[in-house]
Amino acid sequence: MAKVVIIGCGGVGTVVAHKCAQHPEVFGEIVIASRTLAKCEKVVKAIGRPNVSADSVDADDVEQLVALFGRHKPDMVINVALPYQDLTIMEACLRSGVNYLDTANYEPRDVAHFEYSWQWAYAERFEKAGLTAILGCGFDPGVSGVFTAYAAKHYFSAMETLDIVDCNAGDHGKAFATNFNPEINIREITQNGRYWEEGRWVVTKPLEYHRSLTYPNIGPRESYLLYHEELESLVKNYPTIKRARFWMTFGQEYLTHLRVIQDIGMARIDEVDYNGTKIVPLQFLKAVLPNPQDLGENYHGETSIGCRISGKDKEGKPLTYYIYNNCSHEEAYRETGMQAVSYTTGVPAMCGAMMFLTGKWNLKGVRNVEEFDPDPFLAAIAENGLPWHEVVGGDLEMD
Ligand code: NDP
Repeated sequence: MAKVVIIGCGGVGTVVAHKCAQHPEVFGEIVIASRTLAKCEKVVKAIGRPNVSADSVDADDVEQLVALFGRHKPDMVINVALPYQDLTIMEACLRSGVNYLDTANYEPRDVAHFEYSWQWAYAERFEKAGLTAILGCGFDPGVSGVFTAYAAKHYFSAMETLDIVDCNAGDHGKAFATNFNPEINIREITQNGRYWEEGRWVVTKPLEYHRSLTYPNIGPRESYLLYHEELESLVKNYPTIKRARFWMTFGQEYLTHLRVIQDIGMARIDEVDYNGTKIVPLQFLKAVLPNPQDLGENYHGETSIGCRISGKDKEGKPLTYYIYNNCSHEEAYRETGMQAVSYTTGVPAMCGAMMFLTGKWNLKGVRNVEEFDPDPFLAAIAENGLPWHEVVGGDLEMD
């Protein structure tokens, strides 16, 4: 039986901890470590099992991480802190001989820019150490990549277009709130869009392109083209893809608030002087917005995230394929006390760790999820609260 350290005890960390605790046959010991010990202790108490304990760490500090790993000797660390901590945690894993998994790629604090190059640069060191780092194992990135790998394995000889479609049709009853860390979320949405076409990246203005897409069990929702990190690894690993895009739904009310936040300078990520104190407006905004972890109680409705793919089937004939999961906010809350956005991220993170620890995913080095066998992982997420569905030969609504 394995030992894991979960770093980060926010919405996603709480779900990962609950889900790992449901599998004592795999996760023999679980340590939840974050900056604030009291938050970890609260989750440990809620789970109420003797093999789950709490610790604290500042994951910006490699020495503290090495000491944490020295105290607990984990087989794997599940990093669900913030993307800023990815590199320090990977560095500490190398120093301590620990395997690594995360759900979001590294971002420097002072530039809202995400790409895999910083983490891919660790490939050789992980490989030489005989260790594995699994990158982007939430829902998107995460399940979106595994869905694509599943389509490639079972349906297509050549995938030509890929559209990842992410709809949150939930209502939390607040005028404005983000579903995961507000700082990370607003940085993602307010930057330029980008999609892959005919071998190059096409840059768009933030939220410039949008269209109505119909989501199963939900109906039509306005969907906006964003850049999302899994596009980078998917077009590299599946070079037949001619066009790859990512779409996310937003309501008018959300977009109006977002525009005002930007217009008045509250989305800025540079430091400003306030009465002699340096503050970053977006970090200050995070402090006054609703905490995403507190949204669950009154959240109704569901999310629907999937991949719409076209290309040639195994016989070379044209094929369209849609694979998706719908997740209810109410059910996620009943099980873990968290809403569906945290749930759909935490369940795949637990399942990715389970795949590694049970030897089903056993490549060494720094890997994106689509490099592994999709079948056991998709079976595991379905058994652990995220059933998925397929539509073969339907209208993808994409041109
Ligand atoms: P939260 O803000 O709710 O939680 C973040 C946690 O990280 C907090 O417990 C915080 O600790 C901890 N943390 C922050 N900085 C440090 C540090 N220096 N050292 C130790 N702990 C630290 O975020 P979420 O749970 O919503 O999101 C977690 C991650 O999941 C993010 O990276 C996000 O990008 C990713 N994500 C991925 C998705 C996917 O589908 N792939 C979807 C949604 C999120 P404290 O509270 O003590 O400050």
